[in-house]
Amino acid sequence: MAKKASAGQLRRGAISYDSSDQTALYIRMLGDVRVRSRAGFETERRGSHPYIDFRIFHSPSEVEVSVSARNIRRLLSFQRYLRSSRFFRGTTTSSSLNILDDDYSGQAKCMLEKVGNWNFDIFLFDRLTNGNSLVTLAFHLFNLHGLIDYFNLDTMKLRRFLVLVQEDYHSQNPYHNAVHAADVTQAMHCYLREPKLAKFVTPWDIMLSLIAAATHDLDHPGVNQPFLIKTNHYLATLYKNTSVLENHHWRSAVGLLRESGLFSHMPLESRQQMEAQLGALILATDISRQNDYLALFRAHLDRGDLCLENAGHRHLVLQMALKCADICNPCRTWELSKQWSEKVTEEFFHQGDTEKKYCLTVSPFCDRQSESIANIQIGFMTYLVEPLFTEWARFSDSKLSQTMLGHLGRNKAGWKGLQRGPAGREDARAARAEAGP
Ligand SMILES: [Zn+2]
Repeated sequence: MAKKASAGQLRRGAISYDSSDQTALYIRMLGDVRVRSRAGFETERRGSHPYIDFRIFHSPSEVEVSVSARNIRRLLSFQRYLRSSRFFRGTTTSSSLNILDDDYSGQAKCMLEKVGNWNFDIFLFDRLTNGNSLVTLAFHLFNLHGLIDYFNLDTMKLRRFLVLVQEDYHSQNPYHNAVHAADVTQAMHCYLREPKLAKFVTPWDIMLSLIAAATHDLDHPGVNQPFLIKTNHYLATLYKNTSVLENHHWRSAVGLLRESGLFSHMPLESRQQMEAQLGALILATDISRQNDYLALFRAHLDRGDLCLENAGHRHLVLQMALKCADICNPCRTWELSKQWSEKVTEEFFHQGDTEKKYCLTVSPFCDRQSESIANIQIGFMTYLVEPLFTEWARFSDSKLSQTMLGHLGRNKAGWKGLQRGPAGREDARAARAEAGP
């Protein structure tokens, strides 16, 4: 496949695809570019996305523009386009990466000393690092696990890769942003240290897991797959309405790995193996496929035949660990968990508002008129989080697993209390006080 560029135009970009998968095409570009693929991929003039349209998704009150439902997919541009258009117009805000007060920097370093603590407050860490929690945390973890030395990584390339990853998350998304990715990466680190797993994971497994956690929602548009399908978004077409977002996150991650050249010193075979295994981990985060993964994991636990010296079994466990890390919000302390619940609901309701605005069917959990944060959380915990963490605790019967299940129970009681009104709120407070911090 080609890298396309023509002289005389201000643009940068790259197109890559995996020859074994004709449907998977990864495109990244800055500026004004026109693209057509051989796989029937519709022509897109990415650079023509008006900046004002993009803002509709994030600030509906700021701009009122009439757009037909058919054109909604055009609004879901890439994060990079928004940034680049600002840059070329000279209105970019300066990068905050190196502007950090010594005091804050010192406090962030202190926090990193307890990066394996389940009470790690990623929101505070993000403020202390001036919005650079993902880069700072991931770089620290690469160092902590000895991956830089072991794989002879170029630290400049590693930092560049992590900056690209962080930038490709949409900071305007209330939930699916780089702070969520940093939170998942921190949780993954905690799971990798679990005694049951720590004995067997190789440096390769650790690096793969950290990269998968950091990139697992890359370039998330802040709307779900059904929304992309019903608005005929080109990503839904490209990935044939199957794990649309997860495929995009994976392909975006592969694109950034190649662009940064992080593994350019490694043999081609290793790079291909990393890309494929990254896909296996990220695709496992498709929540609509949870039952498939859970059934497989449960069957192994029932038979007691998980052998972690076996790379295949180990990778199944890493898939389950990433799935846990991705939906571990209800297993954090109430203070952290509540913030995540509010953020994810805000994102759902925002999608619902957009659907109403363009006369589309409002997706489940997205209608602010008929849904409540407590109802959504209780359903989420009951049907998705509890079954997953119950099996995880069977696999890793540790102090951390008991802590997570404890928080999960108390948080569920907390939401039930809020659901019942003032009297229930008192009950919930008492239950939390009784349970301690
Ligand atoms: Zn996620």
